[in-house]
Amino acid sequence: MPRNAESTAFRSALEVIRGVEPRVADAIGAELADQRESLKLIASENYASPATLLAMGNWFSDKYAEGTIGRRFYAGCQNVDTVEALAAEHARELFGATHAYVQPHSGIDANLVAFWAILADRVESPALKKAQARHVNDLTEADWFALRRELGDQRMLGMSLDAGGHLTHGFRPNISGKMFDQRSYGTDPATGLVDYDRVAEAAREFRPLVLVAGYSAYPRKINFRIMREIADSVGATFMVDMAHFAGLVAGKVFTGDFDPVPHAHIVTSTTHKSLRGPRGGLVLCGPELADQVDRGCPMVLGGPLPHVMAAKAVALAEARRPDFAGYARQIVDNAQALAEGLLRRGAKLVTGGTENHLVLIDVTGYGLTGRQAEQALLDSGIVTNRNAVPQDPNGAWYTSGIRIGTPALTTRGLGTAEMDTTAELIHAVLSQTSAGVGPDGTASKAKYVLDPTLAEKIGRQASELLTGFPLYPDVELG
Ligand code: PLP
Repeated sequence: MPRNAESTAFRSALEVIRGVEPRVADAIGAELADQRESLKLIASENYASPATLLAMGNWFSDKYAEGTIGRRFYAGCQNVDTVEALAAEHARELFGATHAYVQPHSGIDANLVAFWAILADRVESPALKKAQARHVNDLTEADWFALRRELGDQRMLGMSLDAGGHLTHGFRPNISGKMFDQRSYGTDPATGLVDYDRVAEAAREFRPLVLVAGYSAYPRKINFRIMREIADSVGATFMVDMAHFAGLVAGKVFTGDFDPVPHAHIVTSTTHKSLRGPRGGLVLCGPELADQVDRGCPMVLGGPLPHVMAAKAVALAEARRPDFAGYARQIVDNAQALAEGLLRRGAKLVTGGTENHLVLIDVTGYGLTGRQAEQALLDSGIVTNRNAVPQDPNGAWYTSGIRIGTPALTTRGLGTAEMDTTAELIHAVLSQTSAGVGPDGTASKAKYVLDPTLAEKIGRQASELLTGFPLYPDVELG
């Protein structure tokens, strides 16, 4: 029977859960087993520390705390104040920001908080002031109409989805695309890189209220100093969504022109990707936007999640330790080793490589769609996700790309040598998978042919690769 504190904590928790609904306890145990066995290359995922995970399972979950520190709409929030203040302090210190708002429940919420803060800062609207001061439920339909009328068609310029931008940067199916009149900047078709002259030209033509930088699938650094100059030249507020690369900013891999905090008016992030915290979001800004950002509740958010804020405080404290910088550096070294391993074996990569935590393989080089490649890799124990490539001929559903990222495997301790083996496994699967045919005999974008014996063999090799790098080695569920 393992006696270390982590094993005892998780075993006891599962025992208590099992007493009420054993199927949930079983699913939790199965999830750990699956995560331990699979080669997780999803660029937006990671493994939070036991301390971070444990900080979420407690009595803070029961507490309502709408409002801000010291100014709550509920009584008895003194302990929530403590953890929210700690999380905000760690965030400010870690990123060198003047103000941090740690209540957003997710990245999308953090972006909505930022958008409303920018609108409130930039647009004269009595209806917006009223909306910020009331609870959403207290607003009448007439209030909403007035808000819509007074805000008018404000403009947002962000990176296009197929160049690696995110849905929340103004795309139609997302609320941001309904709040703003949006236009996108893409990447240079020849290099795959952001062309700052083209961004400046688009900004001059479109005159956005908000210029957004940040991405989910762009494998390069962005020069935030230049982007700020572009924003200033047209009087736009410059917002950076660092959801994906916050860990690289925290670990001081992205510094100077590539650190968004000194250059942007407002920065948003998730806390669960390369930053390795709990699922959640945060907003950083200077004193000019701080009051508006703190109105995230009730404008966008209801009650914050105090248990998650407690976990954010733990994870941000971890990211402030000196060893986090080594982790962040290793994420990029690993991504570059993976990219080089793939290139050496003949893979086609968007932008020809990487400078961050992710690599985007253009799988049309293997005669596949992203959907076919994603499934074939999954059959072989390699977990990735399909992703559009710039000007994707297969659209956003089937796609032509596979996005792979190294934050999770780096947390497990895998290094550059293992990345070369990983590249070998990926290439072996993709080069031996072929497109299937649909019922009408034409090429299918979903069906594929992969010898199951090969998939099984690669799956075995993937799990062998992981045996030297146990996930949560101190946690034994028995
Ligand atoms: N912003 C970016 C750049 C992202 O990549 C994502 C998630 O993938 C989000 C925002 C949204 O984060 P969440 O899923 O926590 O809402």
